Amino acid sequence: MTFGDGHRLSTPGVRHMMAITGEHRTSLREVRAAVFFDRDGTLIKDIGYIKSPADVELVPHAANAVRRMNYALWPVIVVTNQSGIARGLVTIEDYLAVRARLDDLLAERGAYINAHYFCPHHPDFTGPCHCRKPGTELFDQAMAEHAINPAVSVFVGDRWRDVQPALHYGARGILVPNEHTPFEEITRATRELETAVTLTDAVHMILQV
Ligand SMILES: [Mg+2]
Ligand SMILES: [Zn+2]
Repeated sequence: MTFGDGHRLSTPGVRHMMAITGEHRTSLREVRAAVFFDRDGTLIKDIGYIKSPADVELVPHAANAVRRMNYALWPVIVVTNQSGIARGLVTIEDYLAVRARLDDLLAERGAYINAHYFCPHHPDFTGPCHCRKPGTELFDQAMAEHAINPAVSVFVGDRWRDVQPALHYGARGILVPNEHTPFEEITRATRELETAVTLTDAVHMILQV
């Protein structure tokens, strides 16, 4: 079962790729670094369970940040928790329309996202899943589908659950807090990973410019 090009229930091929990656064998299939961006509160303003494309507003400099990564030839992959779907507040079609609007806004500014992945679950409504961040199933899937080397990739988001997967992969994680980010998550990211004030700063840190 597939929702757009994003969430997909398990496929044997992906599991096989994950097994290879897990053993840290090198191959031409896993040479690239990628940047994994959170969506809501990171690339677009987080107004809570965003349902209408008309409500999509880019975070300042988000398009610049994505474009910089595009020019540096880093795959830009968005992984987002969309529990509004599990809660019945947002439909898959709403999600896809919002995603298309984000892609359009970025395209107007010469930037693009290589792939989107989303978790439609919430444990209180649909039971536990492995794809809701900080779960790593969607990252594993993205890495298999795009030949990404997790260890050299970077995880960027406004909540600890967005960057925590970096610890799982031995990768970099950069928290870019906003007004909704709990203080303890900022201190934890400062201690265990990295933090940046803006997306532009995060990109500078990634590209070391
Ligand atoms: Mg967020
Ligand atoms: Zn899920």
